[in-house]
Amino acid sequence: MGLQRILNGVIRFRKTVRADLVKQFEKVRDDPHPTALFITCMDSRILPARFTQSQVGDMFVLRNSGNIVPHAQNYGSAGYEVSITTEPAALELAVKRGKIKHVIVCGHSDCKAINTLYGLHKCPKAFDPESPMDHWLRRHGYSSLRKLELRLSNPDEKPLEYISNNALFSFSALIDPENALSVEDKLSQINTLQQLENISSHGFLKEFLERKEINLHAMWFDIYTGDMQMFSKRSRRFVTIDEDSVDRLTNEINQ
Ligand SMILES: [Zn+2]
Repeated sequence: MGLQRILNGVIRFRKTVRADLVKQFEKVRDDPHPTALFITCMDSRILPARFTQSQVGDMFVLRNSGNIVPHAQNYGSAGYEVSITTEPAALELAVKRGKIKHVIVCGHSDCKAINTLYGLHKCPKAFDPESPMDHWLRRHGYSSLRKLELRLSNPDEKPLEYISNNALFSFSALIDPENALSVEDKLSQINTLQQLENISSHGFLKEFLERKEINLHAMWFDIYTGDMQMFSKRSRRFVTIDEDSVDRLTNEINQ
């Protein structure tokens, strides 16, 4: 068990898909055309390539705990400073050198990071100053928690506003209008959308957003049903990606 399973997997890989993949690597090496950066949680149940059936060279993948991209203004008291965390650096690499056209942030239900963030919110005493995880979540999850409070104290379903500081990428969202999700899963959807606001806050993206050279999207994977949802700005809510909705969603993106 454990490592043995991983080593056996490598042996299986050598015998089966390796030769074909190496051929694909060669094809892509001199002429790479990745189309997207897929930012998602490190959760072991999330399998980006399988969920999207993507192939060699299709997309960059960036993963961390809670699919978070720190906001540009979340550094020090001086306001805007150039971020030195991994996520904005990866974003810059994918956009400038990879010339991708789409950034997708994908959250999911039953997210342990989000559950921990909500736990810290309900019980601030649980915060462990020695825990990098707690610091990461509290520092970068604060805006999502504030929006959750708005959503929970808002029985009239006023949409939440996501406004980027450069006004280039703003939208409003109805979170779980059927009230079918747990509070943690509501927070997870809010947090997924919050990352679009955070991404658009970074100065180096301004020109790309102005020229509409990159598109920002939110997806949300429901672990319980296997459904992938996509946020529709037009409908102001997450919509399951299926045979009925895919044309509508594609239309919306192309407009
Ligand atoms: Zn997660």
